[in-house]
Amino acid sequence: MNYLASETRYQNMPYRRLGRSGLKLPAISLGLWHNFGENRAYSTSRDMVLAAFDAGITHFDLANNYGPPPGAAESTFGRILAKDLKPYRDEIIVSSKAGWEMWPGPYGEWGSRKYLMASLDQSLQRMGLDYVDIFYSHRPDPDTPLEETMSALDAMVRQGKALYVGISSYTAEQTREASRILKELGTPCLIHQPSYSMFDRWIEGGLCDVLAGEGIGSIAFCPLAQGLLTSRYLNGVPLDSRAAAVDNPFLSTDKVEQRIAQINALNKVAEARGQTLAQMAIAWALLKVTSVIIGASQVAQIKENIIAVKNLEFSAAELQQIELILTT
Ligand code: NDP
Repeated sequence: MNYLASETRYQNMPYRRLGRSGLKLPAISLGLWHNFGENRAYSTSRDMVLAAFDAGITHFDLANNYGPPPGAAESTFGRILAKDLKPYRDEIIVSSKAGWEMWPGPYGEWGSRKYLMASLDQSLQRMGLDYVDIFYSHRPDPDTPLEETMSALDAMVRQGKALYVGISSYTAEQTREASRILKELGTPCLIHQPSYSMFDRWIEGGLCDVLAGEGIGSIAFCPLAQGLLTSRYLNGVPLDSRAAAVDNPFLSTDKVEQRIAQINALNKVAEARGQTLAQMAIAWALLKVTSVIIGASQVAQIKENIIAVKNLEFSAAELQQIELILTT
């Protein structure tokens, strides 16, 4: 059946400006790291992308290596674009990245011009696109000169293959330097993509100040700590959850157990606010970043999470309560 986007899609989602740029992102973006590869039914992945777009989520975050296998999420997204979202291309922000291992040999990862340019071409091909809206250096490379990595990003914009560029997981100091180089090249750094959640607050130790000073926007990855900051684990570890997946090294039953007391305490604060824990975790992260990239394995999770935007305010007492839970 032909997809027709919801006519009410722009009614509830706030759009927030990235730093001192002209581009706005939805407060909540959708990431395709998990659940959009070949290990998921295409129909489930498609339903999630379309439900997100219908809810005003105009930004979809990808990377060369998202799968499994690496590349599969971009292929899935390309299929959805071709079948359903093509008429809406100008209403959508697509981002991709390169930096982590993608193909064998010395040119398949990190930050050389050789790798980044080839990887973007491959991403465009998989997604059936002429350009991505945002292209990121996915991680800092300790060996490649920053000038080389940044000039590759600048070249992508000049070639019309990316509209804007960004960096991910760069430290405060690396960000300041990357921003300086990009400004000199004439392609300002639009956005930084760090991890950020109640359980991972490293950006508060300097990066936020650099971003504000440089006029760079920010988008948090793993704002729900991969599901820990949701109701997913309140009653144990469900078999279909990320923590239970044997092929996922990023979240485990152990990590759930270490956090479960805090998760329960935070859930009580969320309930008192009239929110679910996921909604509160999103609202809390949005106090510091322009947008958050949520992941999802079911449409229902997206529908629950977008309601977060109805209450983005915190009282001083609530913030104090949360602080106490996180620091004890
Ligand atoms: P989250 O922290 O949002 O975790 C998403 C997971 O939380 C879902 O898969 C689901 O787990 C669970 N979840 C979400 N909503 C709910 C809900 N309402 N109720 C119950 N459970 C819920 O983010 P991700 O770790 O998925 O990362 C998000 C995106 O960030 C990625 O897709 C990617 O685009 C980006 N990213 C970028 C990185 C980088 O280096 N730049 C690194 C990592 C991610 P379950 O699957 O168990 O249902």
